[in-house]
Amino acid sequence: MAINHSDFTKVVHAGVEPEPRTGAIMTPIFQTSTYVQQAPGEHTGWDYSRAGNPTRDALEASFAALEGAKHGLAFSSGLAAEQAIIQILDPGDEVIVCDDVYGGTGRLFRTLYAKYNLKFHFVDMTDIDAVKKVSNSKTKMLWVETPTNPLLKVIDIRKMSHLAKELGALLVVDNTFSSPIFQSPLEFGADIVMHSTTKYIGGHSDIIGGAVMTSDDELHEKIKYVQFAAGAVPGPFEAFLLLRSIKTLAVRMEQHQKNAMAIAKFLEGHSKVESVFYPGLESHSHHEIAREQMKGFSGMVSFNLKGTYDDVVSFLQRLNVFELAESLGGVESLVNHPEKMTHASVPEPLRKELGIGPNLLRLSVGIESADDLIADLDQALNG
Ligand SMILES: *Cc1c(COP(=O)(O)O)cnc(C)c1O
Repeated sequence: MAINHSDFTKVVHAGVEPEPRTGAIMTPIFQTSTYVQQAPGEHTGWDYSRAGNPTRDALEASFAALEGAKHGLAFSSGLAAEQAIIQILDPGDEVIVCDDVYGGTGRLFRTLYAKYNLKFHFVDMTDIDAVKKVSNSKTKMLWVETPTNPLLKVIDIRKMSHLAKELGALLVVDNTFSSPIFQSPLEFGADIVMHSTTKYIGGHSDIIGGAVMTSDDELHEKIKYVQFAAGAVPGPFEAFLLLRSIKTLAVRMEQHQKNAMAIAKFLEGHSKVESVFYPGLESHSHHEIAREQMKGFSGMVSFNLKGTYDDVVSFLQRLNVFELAESLGGVESLVNHPEKMTHASVPEPLRKELGIGPNLLRLSVGIESADDLIADLDQALNG
């Protein structure tokens, strides 16, 4: 599948204007906490950098453009962005969350927000009846992450948006795994989109950040108020780095996806591999929905190796190009062991039920040469 041509143009120019005083083509880093006022309360529109900063403003305009949203907000991490969304709820409200959600999202909801009398139901959202079963008049939010992590299940965003409307609830989509290049949840009826910009949007494994996009004025004002009042904002330098990263987002995503598809096909045909999860494979159980709502299948591939846990560890030790690390979405290829690393905080019974076992590995396929990446996997598998 192909990236929309205009996306290559959009990412280069999104939200960015030449700086008015000097004409600088790159947005300057306004490394300042405060701004001088002409008279009390009379200022240029900026008075304190938690409330607003010109470098961050450019980034927020860029975020909005990426998702085709009216508004964008920048946060100091993906989890800070999630917190700001959750904080618009009231005690007693209930949220339905996909069971295969990012480990840190589950931890945030279970360990920090459940005690404020918010109730989270974790269900398999590829099964709409399971979602309906736990819904009730207190359901105020559906929280979808698609493709899911680490098993890359695909949840039907349009179906979830219809259900959310019936329930009078908001639909939030964590779009981190697809990036705005491959999936536009607002077009399928989502109310709010969020990203960990630490991943594909940042793309260089050098910053932690988060984004929230919406076209609803009232929701934007509520979340912006949390951003201002609770203060989890990124600094101007992080904002600058992200503006720089966004310019190459489309070319990076194209290469991530091309490499991931080649690797998924290679793994699917290898005798040491038990099963492969990649939404781009025709054998993937949600391939059809993926084709409908995604413009590309992104760069994440998970698979189960045959053999014992010791065989898995030896395989990891033989890899040369893939580095063993948490996180994803950077230019370099990484491999992760979800059970022992990113998903260690998921309660064990749920981990078993989801299929996150000792033989499962998750690849974040980088932008290196596909031939080199496949050669690295091949020698490690055969070793
Ligand atoms: C990493 C990640 C998060 C959390 O973002 P941080 O920037 O690490 O706080 C949320 N959702 C998904 C899908 C992620 O991969």
